[in-house]
Amino acid sequence: MNKQKIIIIGAGLGGLSTGIYAQMNGFDTTIYEKNPVPGGLAACWKRGDYLIDGGIHFLSGYKPGLSLHNVFKEVGAHKAECVDLVTYARYIDEKSGRSIDVSSDLDKFQADLLTMFPEDKKKISHFIKGIRGMSKTDISEFGFREPVELMNTMKWFKEFWQYRKALKYFIGKSMQPVREYVKNIHDPMFKDLLLHMFLPDVPIAFLWMILSFVSQKQMGVLKKGSLDFTRKLEERYLELGGKIVYKTEVSDILVENDKAVGIKTKDDIEHLSDFVISANDGRTVIYDMLKGAYTNDEIDSRYNEWQTVDPFVSLSFGINQEFDDEVWLTVFKTTDPITVGDEEKEIIMTRFFNYSSEFAPKGKTVVQVDIETNWDYWFNLRKDKKKYNQAKKDLAERTKEWLEKRFPGIKKKIEVEDVATPYTFWRYTSNEKGSYMGFLPSSDTFTTYIKKTLPGLDNFYISGQWSMSTGGVQPVIYAGRHVIQLLCKDEGKEFIISE
Ligand SMILES: Cc1cc2nc3c(=O)[nH]c(=O)nc-3n(C[C@H](O)[C@H](O)[C@H](O)COP(=O)(O)OP(=O)(O)OC[C@H]3O[C@@H](n4cnc5c(N)ncnc54)[C@H](O)[C@@H]3O)c2cc1C
Repeated sequence: MNKQKIIIIGAGLGGLSTGIYAQMNGFDTTIYEKNPVPGGLAACWKRGDYLIDGGIHFLSGYKPGLSLHNVFKEVGAHKAECVDLVTYARYIDEKSGRSIDVSSDLDKFQADLLTMFPEDKKKISHFIKGIRGMSKTDISEFGFREPVELMNTMKWFKEFWQYRKALKYFIGKSMQPVREYVKNIHDPMFKDLLLHMFLPDVPIAFLWMILSFVSQKQMGVLKKGSLDFTRKLEERYLELGGKIVYKTEVSDILVENDKAVGIKTKDDIEHLSDFVISANDGRTVIYDMLKGAYTNDEIDSRYNEWQTVDPFVSLSFGINQEFDDEVWLTVFKTTDPITVGDEEKEIIMTRFFNYSSEFAPKGKTVVQVDIETNWDYWFNLRKDKKKYNQAKKDLAERTKEWLEKRFPGIKKKIEVEDVATPYTFWRYTSNEKGSYMGFLPSSDTFTTYIKKTLPGLDNFYISGQWSMSTGGVQPVIYAGRHVIQLLCKDEGKEFIISE
């Protein structure tokens, strides 16, 4: 019997995961990817002898102990080497001259917090209790195991029973945004610490979850960078017989009688298939490629009202110096803000790629400075290429001056520099407003389930980060799994996992 053909748009982690599960289940898949390499947002690039990692910052599930690891094994991601995080991040408040490390040793972290912020004893105790509470249950697959469409009463019961101890952390006050949670904190540095540990609009439970992984020694950084991680999925997909057509941009989804029948690529060639699965930017798919013909109020309000994750500008420097004493991430609240557009930026994230020899030759280091910024500023600037390039140069100059004040002598040791703006992220991946993680996992939307199909359109599924309430490695790998579980169900096939 001929295998049913699936065309997948995009070879990011979402598209690759979709392809892997589809191949396991006997479909004949081809991924069309506009870039010459896989990975999309999980990107790395070379600058001279240096490897710049412009993707995944940290990862959980890469080693046994969490149920998420089983899914990593299914898609081959477990083969990517990681370095465990001993310190999640260092926070420096330049105004008060204080600094604190978020240690993976929770007792130590709690003791350090109490020493530094004695007035906030009660809040510290509540915060740490949340992390400890989350650590008691393996929540790495919570809400991910099956697509909601396939849940029945028995499965819901099992889900609630397994996670009964953790459920309280996903309802009520645990879902208040960090921004809200910090309001009654006395010490401004403790406030800032929580606000910038991840994103201020995520529920406090999200922070607890991240720190629970850190304290269980289940959070790490990729030893060989994001592209190597992606290549592990690509390898798995190709081994299973999948095909990838690189450097080929999809322009349209072909529809006949409300049924997806293939795609058209930018070179005007039509490619037919039994199913189409998108794993690229959601808005482009729904409103451009399908011309808004298959939406409803729920989808429209998601795209009109939900916030996307704010983009950032990422400045990477290849430096002829070792930085052995630095932790991988330091967040500065600086007294010497860096101007980006018309904004003065006080929160400066610096990353030191000193945990592996893969990023720079011996004795050298990549230092990356990330600053949250405004999409419109970079998008408008790009209309004048000269001005845009000048703005990038000027920002790099200001950033180098800023680094020089904190690490004297660094400036003259800089051998290469690279500036990636939100426009760069958009140009490379086509994600709306350069969003690096899709929708913002806010308190209002974080637990919302998004359907993987569109109303009125048959033989079409949506995967990748825009098919989940938030992006990230774990959600997009599950998105691919969910889509193929649903497709198998729709085709009356049993969903299987093969070696
Ligand atoms: C700097 C950075 C740090 C991050 N840190 C973390 C982290 O620490 N932890 C975490 O879990 N997640 C992190 N993420 C988020 C995570 O990497 C993404 O959510 C995830 O990789 C998204 O995968 P995706 O496949 O859904 O989308 P994408 O990566 O955007 O893939 C979509 C693919 O489709 C291709 N494409 C687009 N349009 C077309 C078209 N018309 N035709 C053909 N191909 C097309 C694109 O080129 C791309 O390859 C980070 C992301 C970035 C950028």
